[in-house]
Amino acid sequence: MESRIKSWNEGHTADLVTELRTCVACGEPIADKYLFDVDGCSWHGSCLRCSVCLTLLERQPSCYFRDRQVYCRTDYAK
Ligand SMILES: [Zn+2]
Ligand SMILES: [Zn+2]
Repeated sequence: MESRIKSWNEGHTADLVTELRTCVACGEPIADKYLFDVDGCSWHGSCLRCSVCLTLLERQPSCYFRDRQVYCRTDYAK
């Protein structure tokens, strides 16, 4: 099952909730202006790396999410 992550450019406008989310990668609260939110899990932009090749996905056009692991397009397709 493919679950494409929402592009951060598509806008996650600030919600009214002020409580900080916790990054699932590093466990730290996310105070950054931008965060990535997929299926209730959140990441810092700087923590969003492919779990296989460790490419930083922050600047990639898309990334993929499966079993709470993040993949780049190439590794997801394998
Ligand atoms: Zn983090
Ligand atoms: Zn990869």
